Amino acid sequence: MKLLDLLRFKPLERFVRWRYSRFVMQVPLLLVALLALYDGFFGRQLAPKNFATVSVWLHYRGFLVLAIAVLGNLFCAACPMMLVRGPTRWAKRFLPQFAWPRALRNKYFVIGLTLLYLFAYEYWDLWESPWLTAWLILGYFVVAFVVDALFPEGTFCKYVCPLGNFNFTLSTVSPTQITARDPKVCLSCEGHYCVNGRVETPEGRKTLKEAPDAEGLRFPGCETKLYVPQIDSNMDCTLCMNCVRACPYDNVAWKLRAPLIEAAWARYKTDVVWLGVLLFFAGFMNALAMVPPYYQIAERLSALLGTRNEAVLLSTIYLLWTGLGLFLTVGVAALADRISGVKEPPAKAVRFWGAGFFPLAFAMWAGHYTFHFLTGWATIIPVTQQALNNLGIYVGEPDWTLAALVPENWLYPLQVIILYIGLLAASYVLFRRARARNSFAAGAVVFLYFFLLVALALWVLAQPMEMRGTLLLPQ
Ligand code: SF4
Ligand code: SF4
Repeated sequence: MKLLDLLRFKPLERFVRWRYSRFVMQVPLLLVALLALYDGFFGRQLAPKNFATVSVWLHYRGFLVLAIAVLGNLFCAACPMMLVRGPTRWAKRFLPQFAWPRALRNKYFVIGLTLLYLFAYEYWDLWESPWLTAWLILGYFVVAFVVDALFPEGTFCKYVCPLGNFNFTLSTVSPTQITARDPKVCLSCEGHYCVNGRVETPEGRKTLKEAPDAEGLRFPGCETKLYVPQIDSNMDCTLCMNCVRACPYDNVAWKLRAPLIEAAWARYKTDVVWLGVLLFFAGFMNALAMVPPYYQIAERLSALLGTRNEAVLLSTIYLLWTGLGLFLTVGVAALADRISGVKEPPAKAVRFWGAGFFPLAFAMWAGHYTFHFLTGWATIIPVTQQALNNLGIYVGEPDWTLAALVPENWLYPLQVIILYIGLLAASYVLFRRARARNSFAAGAVVFLYFFLLVALALWVLAQPMEMRGTLLLPQ
């Protein structure tokens, strides 16, 4: 099937080929980050009335899933953190350079960091504190700078950034992908410039790998080391479009695709599938921590362990829940393998069947973020006015009544629809994989597992939920 190449749309192609296109996309988000830092540190310390908390915890996350669902990983493309690249190139001249440790060249390190981040989010109630939110933003920039200054470019995005890896994981079900226009052209391509970079010197064309210091027109290649003709997944693609500019044969396409084609067919590495599985269970936990049953569980655990230390209780619940999720997933995948008559190690079974978790993880987070985004969507107007007014840029008096405009009775049905769509999408992925194994019974077992998880998630979302960061009263 011939799919639409978005880069055939000339104005878009011209923009993408322009060397400052990414910078132009990064500037608005940098301004948002700077305003969030200012209001977070110096503004009114009331979460629903502060630009830092409202923009980060309500709007950024809401727009992020919307962009991924409609087009792709646009937030990595416009990530202001990568603006540290200019200063780090300068700093690299003086600092020692290290290779990222081989043992950490996978997703397990970032899985650990994601768990730490989720723990910190709950333990320090980050959504409730403009000041801590501002520190989080600042800390993120500092870590991006340090990692980028000491390690090869792309290390931070690929191996360290929890947010980027969250985006990568959810964009496995987005409707676009970078691919080669004509794979035959790539076969005769001498430099694999899309990944190695290109420099046009007076002596001729070279790759940046073979002539890193050569003078001439320079086009960096893919920082996360994706080789265009072999891309079958959006994992690790920041949509930076370096490959488009680096390919001298105009052979890189940004194509529309069926959103589930990747999860249905791609051969994922085990760590990548674990990231998808973890994000589903973490998304579930994130929602659970906002409803009354969570407090009942915490009370019981407190009596059992004989402690009221919140850090102990929270980390125990997180580890028990994600541990149970991983254990059940291994068990169900291994059972499905057994039913389909395939004998392989449990890790391989998870690699095969666990791909169904990608649409499910997307639906879990999309449902949850939709709730927050819609309950507080209009708050962004008065908080922006207030922050700019405080800065001395007068843009009118904030109208705080804008905050409660969304009908509350839409929220749960919307979340139910999103989760049903997620389950339907996951069923399709399982169907394709079961067909490849010639065993629908095996697919049915995994489907039953997903069905129970979604039922449990719907029960959690049906509970009265804390209206974090909004001006509304609890339901
Ligand atoms: S996409 Fe372009 S640069 Fe990359 S291998 Fe193909 S022809 Fe070469
Ligand atoms: S250079 Fe790499 S990360 Fe950037 S768009 Fe191309 S494939 Fe994606």
